[in-house]
Amino acid sequence: MKTIKDSLYTITVPTPYAVGDVHLYVLKGEPITLIDAGVRSDEAWEAFKNQLAGYDLRPEDIRQVVLTHHHPDHVGLVEYLPNVKQCLAHRAALPWIDRDDRFSSRYVSFFEEFYRKNGVPESLIDKLGEAPEKLKEFPVFTLTGTLKEGETIPGHSDWEVIETPGHAQSHISLFSKEDGVMIGGDHLLYHISPNPIIEPPFHGDERTRPLIQYRDSLKKLFRYNVKEVMPGHGPRFNNVEEIIRKRLSQQEERADKVYSIIEEQPSHSFDISRKLFPRQYKKQYPLTMSETVGQLDFLEERGKIYRRSSKGVDFYFISEKS
Ligand SMILES: [Zn+2]
Ligand SMILES: [Zn+2]
Repeated sequence: MKTIKDSLYTITVPTPYAVGDVHLYVLKGEPITLIDAGVRSDEAWEAFKNQLAGYDLRPEDIRQVVLTHHHPDHVGLVEYLPNVKQCLAHRAALPWIDRDDRFSSRYVSFFEEFYRKNGVPESLIDKLGEAPEKLKEFPVFTLTGTLKEGETIPGHSDWEVIETPGHAQSHISLFSKEDGVMIGGDHLLYHISPNPIIEPPFHGDERTRPLIQYRDSLKKLFRYNVKEVMPGHGPRFNNVEEIIRKRLSQQEERADKVYSIIEEQPSHSFDISRKLFPRQYKKQYPLTMSETVGQLDFLEERGKIYRRSSKGVDFYFISEKS
């Protein structure tokens, strides 16, 4: 019996990031479609071409690209592909890919205000102006269209879009109902828990609550009969429900830790991140702050803590009733 996996090839390319290699998937059929595009580097391009040749394909044969989310380790080689007619992602990826004139200033001003409000020292915030430099890791390309919940990949109607925001606002997973196979991007990984990354709100003013979204997107998968995950990083796996439950309980354990830090001493987010991540809190503060603020959002939503602003900085306290 032919299965979906007979029409799906895996390609693995190196990245310069701590996460290590990233997987790309090629869907055979019409049009030949690439799911995710690795990083923008000659090393990744060589690895991509070689593995593609092993499947009797050339870069010219790829006509369509679908991105699980906008991060630089998943979009990089789009720019290298000569014959792509259609490039699709969730609409929340658009600001990151188009990067219009206002993008950098909105990005910097959102994070300046956000970090200040969360107690990050000015000496660290000062470096924010350099952040848009990092965006140069992104390739130059445009989306030809967008994909949303319930839609299918053009030409590959067996692959349905499940919106899974949390790790990125643009995150989608692709699910083949018939086989129960899910191409999961960074949503659900076997070996690590993805960071719920804070993003500037490009629609409206309110910032998102990515950790709460991430939990919802994890639990959402229970509604689908996912039998196997083909992830963006690490091994593919079948024990899907077990991994989802593990991620949820690990997060709750960390939230308990945050709760006891506040119990000991009401603090602002940066101070809590220092206690939670004593080795990384300074050097990797964009990530440790996303994680810490995520846990605080979660506890606040559950009514276990509350927030009070003092001189422009938010402090967290234990709720009476909890
Ligand atoms: Zn990612
Ligand atoms: Zn990734």
